[in-house]
Amino acid sequence: MDTTKLPSIKRNILLNPGPATTTDSVKYAQVVPDICPREEEFGDIMKQLGRDLVDIVHGGDAFTAVLFCGSGTINIDATVSSLVPANKKILIVNNGAYSNRAAEVCDYYHMDYVNLKLDITQPADVSKVREALENDADIAAVYCCHNETGTGVLNPIREIGAVAHEFKCTMIVDTTSTYAMIPIDMEKDNLDFVMSSAQKGIMAFTGLSYTIGRTSILEASKDYPTRSYYTNLYMQYSFIKKTGQMHFTPPVQTIYAARQGIKEYFEEGEQPKWARHQAVWQALVDGSEALGFKLLIKKEYQSKLVVSLKYPDDPNFSFEKMHDLIYEQGFTIYPGKVADLPSFRLCALGAITPDDIADFFVAMKAALKRMNVALPVQYND
Ligand SMILES: *Cc1c(COP(=O)(O)O)cnc(C)c1O
Repeated sequence: MDTTKLPSIKRNILLNPGPATTTDSVKYAQVVPDICPREEEFGDIMKQLGRDLVDIVHGGDAFTAVLFCGSGTINIDATVSSLVPANKKILIVNNGAYSNRAAEVCDYYHMDYVNLKLDITQPADVSKVREALENDADIAAVYCCHNETGTGVLNPIREIGAVAHEFKCTMIVDTTSTYAMIPIDMEKDNLDFVMSSAQKGIMAFTGLSYTIGRTSILEASKDYPTRSYYTNLYMQYSFIKKTGQMHFTPPVQTIYAARQGIKEYFEEGEQPKWARHQAVWQALVDGSEALGFKLLIKKEYQSKLVVSLKYPDDPNFSFEKMHDLIYEQGFTIYPGKVADLPSFRLCALGAITPDDIADFFVAMKAALKRMNVALPVQYND
């Protein structure tokens, strides 16, 4: 479809942690003739999609993509509930809201697990992971989050993966907010399972999620206890392997958009796309600091995809008011996810550039002025 001949759609700049700003060509890719997803024509699309999703993380022949219809959390549910053998445990490296979600999944399925709670304002300490593995021989899988999107802290997954493998554990990482943004290499990064969702790095829409896993472990998981039906990884994997199809109805139009998003991902290129996200992050940091805002997380700890900013100590400052004024101008900002540290977030996901960020700060400065917030913003400490 030649989308240049179609009317352009109002472009909003989403600085929330996903869904992200999409291109018009991705939006229009959803408009397709009706098709039953059980037709061969659609099966071919699914097969190529699976291969492309493995390619994005340089998985090669040893890995398979397992697709689900759902938002990104479905991958957390699937990996945690499906990859722990009988009488074994999973270690949750817990340093933020998203890794804590994996601990909650363990609770909901009444699983025996080790909850390694760490400081959420800094990267996970690899020596603590080693210590936990030394102390408990029943741990068979290690789970951590790559970019804790709630704060923007980046975890050292390659180092944690090396330790996990030293102890013969399966390494599972929530890469939902880094996949197709920060370059990932399954083997070099010591990973067995990663995951993402179409509304994040590939810049398409919510409703399609994928776990990319080591095929040999997927095969072995056939004999693991089943704790869920809809999100059982082996069930979905074996059905896809046998038929090339998802077990239950796939999100057809979302898949067409995801296919277009992946095409645009490969056209932009792994390194140039990562460079663009970093340039957007840098523009967000520079613009925030120019207005006097303080960062919640040290720069060297950050993923360079999320900027967490402390609320200023100004009686006229209100996040909600600032949000509403900026939202009217087509920009979306997002509250923080750190209970005792009032903060908000600006994210560098999506099809946006540093020019968009320059426009954003014009709107942000105008909003702060309208609220009579002193500039640069003030802090008591
Ligand atoms: C977005 C995100 C998810 C998935 O959240 P959903 O709302 O279910 O799509 C999971 N993990 C991380 C790190 C994320 O950023």
